[in-house]
Amino acid sequence: MIHDFSNLEKLNEGKTKVIYANPDDPASVYMLFKDDITAGDGVKHDIIAGKALVDWQTNRDIFEYLNRCGVRTHYLATPAEKVALVKKLDFKINLEVVSRRVAAGSIVHWGKIAEGTRFDPVVTQFHYKDDPLHDPMLDPGYVHYLINDKGASEYRQMQETNTEVFHHLEKAFAHFRIQLIDFKLEYGLIGGSVYLIDEITGGSFRLWPYRVEKPDLRKANVLTELDPAGRLDKDTYRMGGTSDTVLAKFQQIAAITARFKEV
Ligand code: C5P
Repeated sequence: MIHDFSNLEKLNEGKTKVIYANPDDPASVYMLFKDDITAGDGVKHDIIAGKALVDWQTNRDIFEYLNRCGVRTHYLATPAEKVALVKKLDFKINLEVVSRRVAAGSIVHWGKIAEGTRFDPVVTQFHYKDDPLHDPMLDPGYVHYLINDKGASEYRQMQETNTEVFHHLEKAFAHFRIQLIDFKLEYGLIGGSVYLIDEITGGSFRLWPYRVEKPDLRKANVLTELDPAGRLDKDTYRMGGTSDTVLAKFQQIAAITARFKEV
């Protein structure tokens, strides 16, 4: 079990994680979670003591659940606190793949669509991952061209996996009377196959608790059925919530995902 990373080769450092080489196995790497939290393409940045630990727990329980569901993910194991062991990628696909069940966040601004509008099937968008460019969305016509004319099966696989993962996580959170509103996932290639990579934590999705005892989640707009003010996700931070509030919300998420084994 690895506890001291000071002797390991640092391969990459992102906003919320550091990646280290695994000296015992070139086919895997260690992912160490950090207490950093960012928003607005990295413009807003804070350190929340204890966040790495809850993110690591949430990420572990979600990836173990998805692995049990048969999703092809990079997640292998949890060798120590705040550390995940994951498969080493041949190629990281520089895209953020967003899926939405309920209109919230940016789509309400650029999409001229009312908050709470329900999408069925879920809507999936590809964004080019680039903070200075504010992660621009790929033109859907271009994505269609890539898939249908260029035979870019990776795009089709990412689209299908995003939807499949959305359904798995939506079902799991529904068990705890919470609606998965939207999320962002990332992908990489290993041996020519598309793998779900990166982390899935409180910063990856929006989660709104049910507002009423028996919500009608088939309505065209489900805002009356849900409680956005009770949100558990990173919007709390984006909207200026204190570090203590953000940590408490992320701890609530971790307490829920810890029970995904029951789902
Ligand atoms: O901001 P927007 O509404 O486009 O975000 C959609 C979903 O993707 C949200 O769940 C948000 O937390 C997530 N997201 C993310 N990282 C980004 C952009 C969005 O995790 N860089």
